[in-house]
Amino acid sequence: MLEIRNLFVAYGKIVAVSKLSLTVNEGEIVTVVGSNGAGKTTTLRTVSGMLKPQSGEISFKGRSIVGLSPEAIVTRGISHSPEGRMVFGRLTITENLKLGAYNRKDAAGVKIDMERMFEMFPVLEQRKSQRAGTLSGGEQQMLAIARSLMSRPTLLLLDEPSLGLAPLLVEQIFDVVVELRNEGATILLVEQNANEALRISDRAYVLETGTVTVEGPSIELINNPQLRAAYLGLD
Ligand code: ATP
Repeated sequence: MLEIRNLFVAYGKIVAVSKLSLTVNEGEIVTVVGSNGAGKTTTLRTVSGMLKPQSGEISFKGRSIVGLSPEAIVTRGISHSPEGRMVFGRLTITENLKLGAYNRKDAAGVKIDMERMFEMFPVLEQRKSQRAGTLSGGEQQMLAIARSLMSRPTLLLLDEPSLGLAPLLVEQIFDVVVELRNEGATILLVEQNANEALRISDRAYVLETGTVTVEGPSIELINNPQLRAAYLGLD
């Protein structure tokens, strides 16, 4: 479904991603793990059109998306839930969700999906008229995910959904990710919480200084003692 080949992305002279290749097949959860500054966020931003690569190819459903605007990429079916709970703090929860559906013209479908989001995240329904800035960190994270689902993506890019959350909320967020996949979504997940992310994903890539150093089925990465110690920070 998504194919990245030999990607190079730089910020001025700083090369953030180099020679990166990865694929995501339909119906998979694929995790990208790696330490701070490894290039995870840069990769997702490039897929969603916020950054232009120096070179390399990104194709989605067999067609190149390099050079398309972020709006055009959303319309093709890719939605990005960014790191850092980027909700619109002064808008209400309902308004934030509507913004996630800005590219859709089927008002009835948008309404149905909004109800679905409230079923999936009951805490958001209780607070739907409240300003998003008054939500707790975990609630804002849920809103950010719900908002990105409002465009009805076929591929969801999730950047560090568990960042800064209490263990119970982390578990809830990962449950939602699995539920989404069971409903037919395909997910590319970036996580520092490698242990949890590998447990729910099918395949994984380890990124180091902008390039893939290890890839394989998540279960193999979890069970490989060398990888656990060297790359995943697990004992
Ligand atoms: P983290 O887990 O800390 O978010 P990451 O794996 O997502 O890290 P990136 O944010 O993609 O890593 O950063 C990759 C490299 O690019 C880092 O060396 C970082 O300092 C650099 N970088 C990221 N954003 C910018 C920017 N706007 N300008 C200059 N350099 C940047």
